Amino acid sequence: MDSVRKGLRVGDLQKDTYERLRCSACEVTLETEDDPDGVGQIRSCPGCGSAWRRLG
Ligand SMILES: [Zn+2]
Repeated sequence: MDSVRKGLRVGDLQKDTYERLRCSACEVTLETEDDPDGVGQIRSCPGCGSAWRRLG
């Protein structure tokens, strides 16, 4: 799984006008889940199911 930082860098993710993360392909705001490892969060797209890890 890629990090949110990498997703933003390669263009898979964008930020909307309210600084919320959005999937570039689906243009929907990501959902937030707890990381099963307990360090950070998983941000997932309800449209395509892609997910990115956000640390800390
Ligand atoms: Zn998507």
